[in-house]
Amino acid sequence: MSASKTTGWHHLLETSADDYAEALRARDAAINGFLEIDTDRRRTPGGVSPPDDAPPDGAGPLAGLPLAVKDNIAVRAFQLSCASRILANHVAPYDATVVARLVAAGMVPVGKTNLDEFGMGSATEHSIAGPTNNPWDTDRVAGGSSGGSAAAVASGMVPLALGTDTGGSVRQPAAFCGIYGLKPTYGTLSRYGLVAYASSLEVAGLLSRELGMVRAAYEAASGVDSMDQTSVGLPDAQARPAAAVQRVAFLGGELGLDERTAQAYRRMREVAVGAGLTVEEVELATADAMMPAYYTIAAAEASANLARFNGVRYGERPIFAENPEALVRHARTEGFGAEVKLRVLLGTYVLRSGFQEQYYQRAQRVRTAIRRELASVFANHDLLILPVYPTVAFRHGETDLTAFQQKLADRFTTLANLTALPALSVPAGVYDGLPVGIQAMGPAFSEERLMRFAELVAAELPPERPPAYGVPLCDEIGSGGGA
Ligand code: GLN
Repeated sequence: MSASKTTGWHHLLETSADDYAEALRARDAAINGFLEIDTDRRRTPGGVSPPDDAPPDGAGPLAGLPLAVKDNIAVRAFQLSCASRILANHVAPYDATVVARLVAAGMVPVGKTNLDEFGMGSATEHSIAGPTNNPWDTDRVAGGSSGGSAAAVASGMVPLALGTDTGGSVRQPAAFCGIYGLKPTYGTLSRYGLVAYASSLEVAGLLSRELGMVRAAYEAASGVDSMDQTSVGLPDAQARPAAAVQRVAFLGGELGLDERTAQAYRRMREVAVGAGLTVEEVELATADAMMPAYYTIAAAEASANLARFNGVRYGERPIFAENPEALVRHARTEGFGAEVKLRVLLGTYVLRSGFQEQYYQRAQRVRTAIRRELASVFANHDLLILPVYPTVAFRHGETDLTAFQQKLADRFTTLANLTALPALSVPAGVYDGLPVGIQAMGPAFSEERLMRFAELVAAELPPERPPAYGVPLCDEIGSGGGA
């Protein structure tokens, strides 16, 4: 599958910005994927002229295509709320590097998408704007925290969206919505312009129904960035892990999957065997340590990263306060939602002097053990295949999964963040009306290998469209809409 297959969307070039905005709003009424829509900037991205190195109109696979961006990533002149009350009126003064690079490739940001406040959650329900609904079944969540981005893509509103993945936030909503979600190798997409939640775990990620689009966007957006000290350039193609897939390991053991996910996982194995791959099963001794290690480290880093939102440096400031301490207390009490407060408190607790050894440092040692175990898996296998999430998209609220069970369910996705390795959520069919995604993980810089595997799967299980919202907007609003 090549990037040139991303047709259809080019109709939008001939559609007026107003028609497109109207169609987006109409479609989004049932989804609530967008926090802000502004298609005027299609003509002049970010309100300024495109950079000099922008390809001429119509050149390159991404030229002229609309882009949706999770609202914790800066797009100049768009809001940057992180779905938090504390940043409700914040407007980004500059473009994140990943955005700037996609704009340079010709993409046009058209809106900011819904998320869990600061990226903390798995359902896009912890948002000041209310939850995002799953396009396959609006009684269910779209996943999170990049739920708005996933739903916008799955419902045909945009061909590509940016998200962030700290512990699964690109892959899990991609799986719940039946699209691809790439969490690349740590550092290959610059974090400059991302509002930090847990810096050592976090990467920008890409969501699309078209693999060619993921590939083209990753190529365009990746690379070293002087504004992010942790960014790395991609090694030359010859120095990267070979793209060919031959031996794959499937995660075995007691996985605790619901029926549809178990069915999809079995189907995935049949597809791999059918494609002539050597399939083996591995178990991870560190499996049970994944979730506690992740939440300890993520909360610790969050408590430090969110210290800047105090009503003085950043964030809404109360109109009146007796003294500076009261000002900060008021700003944070009013500005943060319950889940954010929980994590800041937890993070502060594990970092307290005298407790660091018991929690934070222990979690770091566990992280090293996980990394070592994964290195030994990749010494013998090209890829590790495992579920993204133990269940399909669950119903809103805590009907199906409690808040704690949702965190426990992050055990499969957090693995890639703790090890800095790339992982791709691959659509693995639709079961009784809901899509299931299965992830492929590989060694550092093996993104192309992950995509080759996904192509192989797509030959048997091509991504499907949700029934009610399955027509891409461009087909609906047609061409020649009076630009
Ligand atoms: N669900 C995880 C959390 O709440 C992952 C979130 C993310 O990747 N941003 O932390």
